[in-house]
Amino acid sequence: MASSPAGPIVARCAALGTPCPGTVWSGYSEPVTAETHAPGQPGASTPSIPLNPGRRDLGMRATMIFPDREIVERYYVPIIYTACRTCYSELAPDDIFERAVDGRIAPEKQRELIGRVIESGHGSTIEHVVFTFAITGVSRTLSHQLVRHRAGVAFDQQSQRYVSYKKGASTMLPGTIADADPALLERFEDQVEGALELYTELVEAGIPGEDARFVFPNATRTNLVMTANLRALIHMSGLRLCTMAQWEIRRLFQLVRHEVFTASPFLGSFLAPKCVALGYCDEAGNRDEHCPIRPHKDKVLGAWAEKTRANRPAGSNSTQ
Ligand SMILES: Cc1cc2nc3c(=O)[nH]c(=O)nc-3n(C[C@H](O)[C@H](O)[C@H](O)COP(=O)(O)OP(=O)(O)OC[C@H]3O[C@@H](n4cnc5c(N)ncnc54)[C@H](O)[C@@H]3O)c2cc1C
Repeated sequence: MASSPAGPIVARCAALGTPCPGTVWSGYSEPVTAETHAPGQPGASTPSIPLNPGRRDLGMRATMIFPDREIVERYYVPIIYTACRTCYSELAPDDIFERAVDGRIAPEKQRELIGRVIESGHGSTIEHVVFTFAITGVSRTLSHQLVRHRAGVAFDQQSQRYVSYKKGASTMLPGTIADADPALLERFEDQVEGALELYTELVEAGIPGEDARFVFPNATRTNLVMTANLRALIHMSGLRLCTMAQWEIRRLFQLVRHEVFTASPFLGSFLAPKCVALGYCDEAGNRDEHCPIRPHKDKVLGAWAEKTRANRPAGSNSTQ
């Protein structure tokens, strides 16, 4: 880890192609999402990494409704610092917290300790702070993936039983289908609209909404409230900002990261694809290294084995 407290942030921002603290964050840079196959190589004609979902207005939002920037700035870093410092201090936690909040412990010193503790994997220290997001306009395809996260996160989701979609539920149109052959796009739209029309007919015929909803497609939009502690948020972002994740949930976590980053560039900088913290990619599907963020672990281990071989004294037993 770099000795400067700003070091890890700068390193993580650079890895993501994001501006460093103090500048406006604007999402991933091209190299993280663009096609990387050389012309003429297999896969060159179609992007192997989905195009940046951030380029398209998907009509989805993630707004951090708690805490606000002031609370994050004033209390979140001191709370985490108190959790970290309590382990090694004779002072009572409330005493440490007071010193951290009133600035007797310099904010840079707090951030430096927190950075070291997070990067060492001592995760309980960052379970003491939570972030609540209003998530709107995402598809059921996304929400089904999102609610698979269990540890340190709570969800509440709009009910298809208790909400009656009088004007028809709204739906998400994937970019690939929007850009597809117009005839295919038309069939998709007919299918989705047909399902929503049938829903309305069923409800009007007296079928309860909880049964009529069986015709809803995965494209149906939904709203959720998600509260996650920082540890869970870092873990989820590690998986969902990865280019192996589905485009819509990647986009959601780009928005989530943007919200946290806006409130605290320091804390937001920890939300990154898991390869950034690991230093290598552990996704089997990236053995061809089509995603350039970090080298695949096979390559890293190969280089390590090569270096070990090269450093071995001449004539030593190769099996030792
Ligand atoms: C790219 C991608 C593709 C995926 N594809 C599929 C798929 O095809 N099919 C499918 O079913 N799912 C799929 N998933 C979902 C995935 O298997 C997980 O269910 C999901 O990502 C939740 O992550 P998590 O298990 O780390 O859970 P979280 O709840 O986020 O857990 C966080 C961590 O806490 C620990 N933990 C949580 N609960 C327990 C427990 N009960 N026991 C022990 N440790 C625990 C684990 O270390 C875990 O990693 C996919 C996920 C991704 C990111």
